[in-house]
Amino acid sequence: MRKRIVAGNWKMNKTLDEGLALATEVVNIVNDEVNDDVMAILCTPFVHLSQVAKIVSGSEKVFLAAQNVSEHASGAYTGEVSVDMLKSIDVTHVILGHSERREYYHETNAQLAAKVDIVLAGNLNPIFCCGESLEVRESGNHAAFVTNQLEESLFHLSSAEMLNVVIAYEPIWAIGTGVTASSDQAQEMHKTIRSFLASKYGQSVADDITILYGGSAKPSNAPELFSKPDVDGGLIGGASLKARDFVDILKSY
Ligand code: PEP
Repeated sequence: MRKRIVAGNWKMNKTLDEGLALATEVVNIVNDEVNDDVMAILCTPFVHLSQVAKIVSGSEKVFLAAQNVSEHASGAYTGEVSVDMLKSIDVTHVILGHSERREYYHETNAQLAAKVDIVLAGNLNPIFCCGESLEVRESGNHAAFVTNQLEESLFHLSSAEMLNVVIAYEPIWAIGTGVTASSDQAQEMHKTIRSFLASKYGQSVADDITILYGGSAKPSNAPELFSKPDVDGGLIGGASLKARDFVDILKSY
């Protein structure tokens, strides 16, 4: 059975002290209030990871993710961070292919395929982001656009590898804009993604893959989004910066 996950993407926010305070508050509230069957993941800036790792190690419900990683194993790549470095501080997940990285840092589907490979080879779990721009949505080509992202970055994987990937469908027009996809729009795309996975890997593998929704999710709309059968949780940006909001989203299940 697939896992339900709510991951908070802090992006480039919070000083170290602020981040440690936020992580401590989240872990305390999650431990007290959240069901065992929902996994919380904190996706912090690199600088915070090793200290947040100590805070989440006291919880069986809260895990730790990086927001990016190098596609190279080690060496002369100034400014980059490797999978082995993340493993050495107990990171379990890595966001790959967030639309901000695709847009501002020109990450391509081929480069993301290489990042997916090195993350899986290190026994970490990619949270692989996909999603279309407003222009693509308005042209009606959003399903083809998103399935092409999946095909070019993920479809070289074996079934066993694919089962370790979490997918996050994040329509770019909904990220940080306050415009949320309706729950029907989210369900339609999640179902399309799952059917596409089934066409390559079979229905039982597709049924075991967690597909998160991301884009202006908040406590007020999460219950409706999470009520949809193919929406298995969320990747949360802005609302993950306040412990109470993030935990209330987790509690939407
Ligand atoms: C995100 O950046 O992954 C995201 C979903 O952001 P927000 O929730 O702020 O739209």
